[in-house]
Amino acid sequence: MPPAPPLPLPALHASHAGVWLADRAGAVQTVSRSAAITAAADTPLLLLNAPLVGTRLGYPELSGLDLLEAFAFLRPAQFCVPTPRGLAHALGLEEAAGDEAVPALLQRAAGALLALCGSQEWAEREGAWSTLQSLARLRWPWATVLAPHITQPKRAEKWLFSRLPQWEETPERPQPAQVTLDADAIGARLERLTGEGAERRTGQRDFAQATSAMFAPRPAKGSPTMLLAQAGTGIGKTLGYLAPASLWAEAAQGTVWVSTYTKNLQRQLRRESTRAWPIARADGSRPVVVRKGRENYLCLLNLEDALQGGFGGRAAMLAQLVARWAAYSDGGDMIGGDLPGWLGTLYPARAIRSLTDQRGECVYAGCPHYRKCFIEHAARASAGADLVIANHALVMVHAARGRDAAARPTRIVFDEGHHVFDAADSTFAAAFTGREAIELRRWITGPERGSRGRRRGLAARLADLASYDEAGGQAIAAAIEAADALPSEGWLQRLAEGTPASAVEALLAAVRALAYARDESGLDAGYGLETEAADLGGDFVELAQGAAAALAAIRMPLIRLGVRLEKLTEEPPDWLDAPGRARIEGARHALAWRIDTLAAWEALASGLGGPADPQFVDWLAVERSDTREWDVGLHRHFLDPMKPFAKVVLEPAHGVMLTSATLCPGGGEGPEWQVAIAQSGAAHLPAPPQLFAADSPFDYAARAEVLIVTDVKRGDLAGLAAAYARIIEASGGGVLGLFTAIRRLRAVHGRIADRLARAGLPLYAQHVDPIDTGTLTDIFRDDPAASLLGTDALRDGVDVPGHSLRCVVLEQVPWPRPTILHRARRAASGGPDYDDRIIRARLAQAFGRLIRGKDDHGHFIVLSPAFPSRLASAFPAGTPLRRVNLDEALHALASGVSEGGTRQAAGLER
Ligand code: SF4
Repeated sequence: MPPAPPLPLPALHASHAGVWLADRAGAVQTVSRSAAITAAADTPLLLLNAPLVGTRLGYPELSGLDLLEAFAFLRPAQFCVPTPRGLAHALGLEEAAGDEAVPALLQRAAGALLALCGSQEWAEREGAWSTLQSLARLRWPWATVLAPHITQPKRAEKWLFSRLPQWEETPERPQPAQVTLDADAIGARLERLTGEGAERRTGQRDFAQATSAMFAPRPAKGSPTMLLAQAGTGIGKTLGYLAPASLWAEAAQGTVWVSTYTKNLQRQLRRESTRAWPIARADGSRPVVVRKGRENYLCLLNLEDALQGGFGGRAAMLAQLVARWAAYSDGGDMIGGDLPGWLGTLYPARAIRSLTDQRGECVYAGCPHYRKCFIEHAARASAGADLVIANHALVMVHAARGRDAAARPTRIVFDEGHHVFDAADSTFAAAFTGREAIELRRWITGPERGSRGRRRGLAARLADLASYDEAGGQAIAAAIEAADALPSEGWLQRLAEGTPASAVEALLAAVRALAYARDESGLDAGYGLETEAADLGGDFVELAQGAAAALAAIRMPLIRLGVRLEKLTEEPPDWLDAPGRARIEGARHALAWRIDTLAAWEALASGLGGPADPQFVDWLAVERSDTREWDVGLHRHFLDPMKPFAKVVLEPAHGVMLTSATLCPGGGEGPEWQVAIAQSGAAHLPAPPQLFAADSPFDYAARAEVLIVTDVKRGDLAGLAAAYARIIEASGGGVLGLFTAIRRLRAVHGRIADRLARAGLPLYAQHVDPIDTGTLTDIFRDDPAASLLGTDALRDGVDVPGHSLRCVVLEQVPWPRPTILHRARRAASGGPDYDDRIIRARLAQAFGRLIRGKDDHGHFIVLSPAFPSRLASAFPAGTPLRRVNLDEALHALASGVSEGGTRQAAGLER
């Protein structure tokens, strides 16, 4: 097909290096920021990622004909990296040669998109015309441009809610057969999965055999077979455990759950699972299902409401684009699924989230879309699946309060197992804060006056019960009345002004006042404040008791309501049909969860002032960011969260494995296993865990080098920024820069981004660019000249094999923040050794970003004048480490890493 003609509309491009404007004929000139803003106000300009261009121009309200919006409309559920280069690749166009050629590329891209509308190859034509009519009514800028190119179909298009498939009820799966896997069969399965002629990896074969232990019949109730497996990067552990898992699922007709921490690994698992299972079985069901928390999926009822006036302005346009996507999505996962991560960032914040079921307001069978609901599809599919791919938080929540006890996971592989401790820490914690409490209030009473949308309270959701069952109706009314004691709209301001409006607000106001009174941190307003829940005065304790009583007054009627609902399901009245029963079941489940939450808050508040319970760490906190307070409340964490984890997740299971490249960095020698055992929950089980370790096959000695740069002083921001700039220049991009403080990250980015952009080295940053983290990683992966700065989420969540990532830079040793929780755990588990273990784990995780494949190579740099030698054991054995000044580091970067020649000449130090 000949290339489509460019669209003759003016186009704008802005990078850190400058601003370029093309006229209709394609003539490009550099312009000032203010001239660009004026031009955009005069006429709609073609541009790519309006919020990002707006940030670069210092004018966040910038709008125009954003090609990303057009792409989302025309190619829903398709992948596109949201950069000029990414758009060119997605549309099969030639890349722009430099910034000044980007406006012309945008014109060609717009032409290509319009040409798609007339093409037979446009796979997503169905539904486009109807959606475009709605978008035209909303005055979507693209509507007038696209309208002449999208012809009205001869037959009326079905609308989304009649197009989506329905799930079918399936019989319950019998419990799995007890089988013991044969070693030869595992070897043969592994060979089949890795493919004929694939390189034989001893570590992988041993790992697969070791994994089979978790599928053996359980010796005693409450005592699962537990395996801890330290599997060095590159041994091929995914196929290593999928081999025995697929064999067991086949022989036992059971379900294996694989739980990950990052979305990256979920995606990889999904890909690799196709070697063991087909996409669909002969009966059409899916053997492999990805399952996430319900807050990740599109709620069709919320979408319908948004389409019918619940959303206004730009958010209403987003709802139309989401409806386009929903018709083509595989699974309806909005966060990390096939909805482009960048789509939400083009529209008002939180609009995407309000299309999901954030607050557990689902009405289950009472919902007209229940049979098409993405969440229900996933739940049903996972009950009959051989492999469920989930995340740590979901597995824990599911084990703790899953709707269907029979479908709870019993064979679980926790990949990225070093995160299980943190996931358990948040899952089993209680946060009695203003934000949580106002959510609970809304769940009980419904929305406050003036809010839009379909949000409904308990009374509306259970209106039929209230009219049929007097006691049930009274319980609902009593809960609604008691919920007045919870915070309401405007609570944060009232706290700051000292005018609390309810018992709980009064306690939160006292928490806030105390946190400020006791603050000695010296931290600026960008950081949170916290103080121990100890030495509290009589007035404070009295307020806490008042709040606890108010919580009890809400919990009691909710318990009564739960009893009424239970009775209804046990002795159903004539009018209660099967969908009605399912809805009552759903309501009971949601109610039980709220009752547990209230009980935990009550225990926390009523215990204040009394003797401290040694199994918990309690504290009071004010959360702040960017000089704004956003939450105030009381927190309770288990000192050892693996205790409830063992009780709730491990004990009911039959076989569990925790595996990771950094589960036990010592590689199986010395006391490190003790730490891994303690952090896995295995110490709370009757039988000891089985242990396995396999080293990475990568040649770290030849492919990586650790450089400790000793002449960038701590606290010297200008020096830090200059060092980053010079490192990125020497490396020609491909640098991942990790920070422990957002403030320093922003300061460094602000000082060097322009200079680097002028050298053709784009620099992206979390917390600076209005782009989600997943998309930032996609951009970084796609462009070998790009560099990326970020914080914690990137230390462990970036999987960029190959040339795009060739240098990791840490701005300093990643010391843990001395929080109250950290202090308590440190005191309970070995003082300074505890800190060292955390730092070593962080260094190991960050180092793990560098070498992802056997051909990868690169440098790992820590900017630290005083890097303790004892931390060097964080890096894989054999990795060279040198202390150098910045100039020497730049020289090493420029020489590259090749078979260790330069390093050996310079002398190694471990
Ligand atoms: S069943 Fe629940 S989550 Fe699903 S669409 Fe309906 S209200 Fe939303």
